[in-house]
Amino acid sequence: MSDAGRVAFVTGASRGIGRSIAVALAGAGHRVAFCYASDEAGAKETQAAIEELGRDALALKADVADTAAVDRAFAEIEAAWAPVEILVNNAGVTRDGLIARMSDEQWDVVLQTNLGGAFHTIRRATRGMMKARYGRIVNISSASGQLGAPGQANYAAAKAGLVGLTRSVARELASRGITCNVVAPGPIVTSMTDAMPDDWRVWAQGAVPLGRLGTADECAAVVAFLCSEAAGYVTGALVPVDGGLAMGH
Ligand code: NAP
Repeated sequence: MSDAGRVAFVTGASRGIGRSIAVALAGAGHRVAFCYASDEAGAKETQAAIEELGRDALALKADVADTAAVDRAFAEIEAAWAPVEILVNNAGVTRDGLIARMSDEQWDVVLQTNLGGAFHTIRRATRGMMKARYGRIVNISSASGQLGAPGQANYAAAKAGLVGLTRSVARELASRGITCNVVAPGPIVTSMTDAMPDDWRVWAQGAVPLGRLGTADECAAVVAFLCSEAAGYVTGALVPVDGGLAMGH
């Protein structure tokens, strides 16, 4: 079967790393559905960028923390095209706070979105993938999941959880031709890091061996490879895109 023209679904692609991944997958020849939480203008820009490459795009408003919304999104993709063969769990949020003052709401939203979201989509996507005996799943974690981060206990716990989820899915579904890998970006220039204070940027540039923040396109290139036929012998891998920040972990 040709590597081009598969059905891909990227969560959280109205901007940032998700948009770059959606565009990279379109560039690789795939039809790309993607979801977002609220940013309709951003979603339209992503859709236009995919269509500019001559590929089909499907923008879906769906909160990945909501099982029913995820099920509806998959049903729409299947009705429009076919079952999802490539799934990228990129949607993520932060609700930073020191552990002693972190509210249940801060904890629950981050865990339910960043980790629960991936569980919801993988559970739904694997039905079709198992039938097709083919699938590519990539989960976007973070160097914080390996290193820990002060003020981000919720975020780091969710991102570390994605590693266990990925490796379990990789082992469970390997015999069905489905690979599942986790990409762990370091500090990347997006609206998420734009919101960080200036002293964080100074820290990040000093801590990253390559001495700079990365770009969304640099993450997307690695994700697109893991979603390709060429990556058929890579599963359960944690691939850092972090300028060397977490090397050795
Ligand atoms: P971003 O610019 O804040 O974009 C986040 C995207 O996720 C947006 O499209 C947003 O949609 C969507 N989203 C948020 N909550 C959602 C939900 N409940 N359901 C569906 N979509 C949702 O973030 P980013 O920097 O590109 O980060 C993308 C991923 O990379 C995240 O998982 C993040 O944790 C991870 N990461 C980022 C960095 C970094 O330095 N930037 C480093 C390591 C890991 P709306 O626009 O509609 O809200």
